[in-house]
Amino acid sequence: MEIIRVPRIMQDTSKTFLLHGKTIGFVPTMGALHDGHLSLVRRAREENSITVVSIFVNPAQFGANEDFNIYPRDLEGDTEKLIKEKVDILFLPDASSIYPEGYLTYVNVEELSEKLCGAFRPGHFRGVTTIVAKLFNIVKPTRAYFGQKDFQQSVIISKMTYDLNMDIDIVVCPTVRDKDGLAMSSRNSYLDNSQRQAATIIYKCLKETSESIKSGIIEIKNVKRFMLDFLRKEPLISEIDYAGIYDISSLEELSAEKENMLLAIALRIGNTRLIDNMLINIKEERKY
Ligand code: AMP
Repeated sequence: MEIIRVPRIMQDTSKTFLLHGKTIGFVPTMGALHDGHLSLVRRAREENSITVVSIFVNPAQFGANEDFNIYPRDLEGDTEKLIKEKVDILFLPDASSIYPEGYLTYVNVEELSEKLCGAFRPGHFRGVTTIVAKLFNIVKPTRAYFGQKDFQQSVIISKMTYDLNMDIDIVVCPTVRDKDGLAMSSRNSYLDNSQRQAATIIYKCLKETSESIKSGIIEIKNVKRFMLDFLRKEPLISEIDYAGIYDISSLEELSAEKENMLLAIALRIGNTRLIDNMLINIKEERKY
């Protein structure tokens, strides 16, 4: 695996690959890699001739009071994992090469960036779309891979790609979970044992809500209340940012049933903010 740190060199390397008719599969990450990340890497490897992974903890997507400084970093472990996965290139830029002094340009997907997590993390998605647009220009991927775990992020990036005529396929891959259902996340390492146990309520809530909707036990207009009541049983949850059922494209809260719907949750256990979601397809599930 080659490690490239300089954007210009990454660009030239990608240009050469493309010139030789190769396809480039790209997985952008912030490191502290787990099986969720590696599932994207494997999919990229299957579908492309070259696989590029980036690790960059992007300061522009963290709020002033968020965890940028303590965000888990494990470059040695990450490098080992990526070599094992036979990744071709690890792109590892410095913050100063991505945001040099005098940097002024930001990409923002309006409206969608204000919904759900955007309402609680002002500027977060503007930081995400800016770094992803920059990484796309540097890596020049044929296909880019994102996790459903961050569903809103995948919707926003798909919209950015479409609106800006970027010639890149956005591939969204299923959420990888621990055995007890908790979605894998670099931030899970912040949790102590009892918090880690408490966090399993998130997936339980998604599953129970999804099953209750499919079997007709709860109506869409009562879903939010059902989820909040379910989550409030866990005393270690310090705050619920949101829980409810949403349109999969506009991310608007739903009051009536649609064929495809998104259940989504964001909450805090202690100071750790956790998110998860589940898609529901009513037609697929109800065979009548
Ligand atoms: P991050 O390093 O948290 O920015 O995540 C990098 C990519 O990995 C994003 O596209 C995430 O959605 C994806 N990802 C993170 N956790 C998971 C997971 N548990 N399952 C699938 N994809 C994930």
